[in-house]
Amino acid sequence: MKYLLTPLPYSYDSLEPYIDVKTMEIHHTKHHQAYINNLNNVLEKYPQIAGIKLEDLMENLDKQPFDEKDKTIFRNNGGGHLNHSFFWTIMSPGKEFDENLVSDAKREFGSINEFKKLFTAAAMGRFGSGWAWLVLDKNKKLKVYSTANQDSPYLTGDIPVIGLDVWEHAYYLKYQNRRNEYIENWWNVLKLV
Ligand code: MN
Repeated sequence: MKYLLTPLPYSYDSLEPYIDVKTMEIHHTKHHQAYINNLNNVLEKYPQIAGIKLEDLMENLDKQPFDEKDKTIFRNNGGGHLNHSFFWTIMSPGKEFDENLVSDAKREFGSINEFKKLFTAAAMGRFGSGWAWLVLDKNKKLKVYSTANQDSPYLTGDIPVIGLDVWEHAYYLKYQNRRNEYIENWWNVLKLV
């Protein structure tokens, strides 16, 4: 079984002007596709784990049959596939507020504004490439943090609720070095909050 790139639930230009059409197209068809190709290549060597969900492989990474090199390849590219597949679905040209999430976030962080401040600080504070996350941990508690590279929250058993790609490939064409402006504008295309 090979993983395949699925089409976005909206057109490449529909997140304009906040995320430009060229970035969306390259990000989806080149970057995400590359993670999928590398993931398929590494999994091909381990038929004994075929059929196990990526989330489960990630959460129990040390118990898998990968050698050290392949473990890193899986962590990066399995993470890349999971993270991007998730990222596409939480964005939308129109808001579809999740009332439960909004009230849970208010309860946990005091207000949506406070949550956005924390999340933005996590995204800005990630040196180099990575992601900012709002996750649900094993005790069903909402937490904000960032991960390096393509590390998935499933590595630590957390379930992603909101994730923001802060690799330069996600924003450089339009925003160059202005990660702060990208983050600020991104709230407009996050459909949940
Ligand atoms: Mn990306």
